[in-house]
Amino acid sequence: MKAQDICREKSAELFEKAKNYFPGGVNSPVRAFKSVYGTPLFIERGDKAHLWDADGNEFIDFCCSWGPLILGHNNPQIREAVEAQLGKGLSFGAPTALENELADLIISNNKYIEKIRFVSSGTEAVMSAIRLARGYTKRDKIVKFEGCYHGHSDSLLVKAGSGLVTFGETSSAGVPKAFADETIVIGLNDKAALEQVFVDFKDQIAAVIIEGVPANNGLLIQDKEYIQFLRDITASNGSLLIFDEVITGFRLGFEGAAKYYDIQPDILTYGKIIGGGMPVGAYGASAEIMGHISPDGGVYQAGTLSGNPVAMAAGIAALSILAQPGFYEKLESTTQAFVEELRGFIADNDLVVKIFTIGSIFWFAFTAQENIQTAAQIDPASMEKYKIMHRELLNRGVYFGPSGYEVGFISAAHTKEDLQTALAVIKDSLLVAFA
Ligand SMILES: *Cc1c(COP(=O)(O)O)cnc(C)c1O
Repeated sequence: MKAQDICREKSAELFEKAKNYFPGGVNSPVRAFKSVYGTPLFIERGDKAHLWDADGNEFIDFCCSWGPLILGHNNPQIREAVEAQLGKGLSFGAPTALENELADLIISNNKYIEKIRFVSSGTEAVMSAIRLARGYTKRDKIVKFEGCYHGHSDSLLVKAGSGLVTFGETSSAGVPKAFADETIVIGLNDKAALEQVFVDFKDQIAAVIIEGVPANNGLLIQDKEYIQFLRDITASNGSLLIFDEVITGFRLGFEGAAKYYDIQPDILTYGKIIGGGMPVGAYGASAEIMGHISPDGGVYQAGTLSGNPVAMAAGIAALSILAQPGFYEKLESTTQAFVEELRGFIADNDLVVKIFTIGSIFWFAFTAQENIQTAAQIDPASMEKYKIMHRELLNRGVYFGPSGYEVGFISAAHTKEDLQTALAVIKDSLLVAFA
């Protein structure tokens, strides 16, 4: 049965005010709740797996700030590390030992990179990685896949044009056509399309970029064999393979999707988790490739707040916890049990919904298809059910991302009780969506 609506009075008031300041009332579009019911909730605080909004409503959070909060909100170790740094200064624009420490933590536990560079967001990491690939190969074109998100830099706000293999079309106003002409967009899991690209643009492709596991437009889990194909075809054409691990890095494990597939990409990008909730991104590669970045090499990339000491302190605290033996195994088995319980319920009730999962990521797909591996397989009409489920979840105290294309995350702060409560809520909400 449909639950009673929670009070959103204060949030609605704040949203009206915010509209005077920000386009759409928000500082990142998906926050505007355009794909779900109601006005966005203005969050006041978070603790462990819980969130409280401006009206005092409490939620169990499965959005986790879109992935960074693998340790939940207000983690004591991260908070203490940040507090300790606060007394010493917020930014120096000069090197600090903290950067060495976080880099060492990453590189000594990750065999896929030898050198890294810290930046301040995932977008910046990927934008820089693309420039590095172009500078390194002395080629201009890049290949990306429909359904992969790589941040909002010009080269990557491009969608597939019409025809099997064509230049992309910009997916945002303000992106020059000339940029889109350098980005070729094809479907995931389509070997023939990529083979054709390398025939049509031989010696022009700087890099092929893919999300470690595509998780920004549903969860489109690829076969290892396909990723190996990407590795082989790029290598044999002198192009680089970039894994954008901004979501999967330190989420699927310390070595992310590279380790999951056991495939060595040429450049890797990180973000989200590595800052422990603070704004940090990074890109890394072999020492040889990274040698092309300024000041060692000719590819320019810089940042006033790059390697910010407070953010580094948060990242060190977070990754130190993640590096402990068994951390990921435990989180993954918790997620598995959670998803299995729901799958059982879905089967018992003959509901037309699938839950895809990897590591501690899950995605509800309102589909009868056994598998979804491309963006084209997602039926936009199926999002109607997500919308209903989302409203019911919020009204019952469970917070999911405000779009059916978004994945959910389980954090180490989700307790057994949290998950038991959430399971009951999700089951009730699913029944309403299918009523
Ligand atoms: C979130 C994300 C980005 C963009 O990172 P921002 O920090 O939002 O700029 C890029 N690539 C992937 C795979 C992401 O998930």
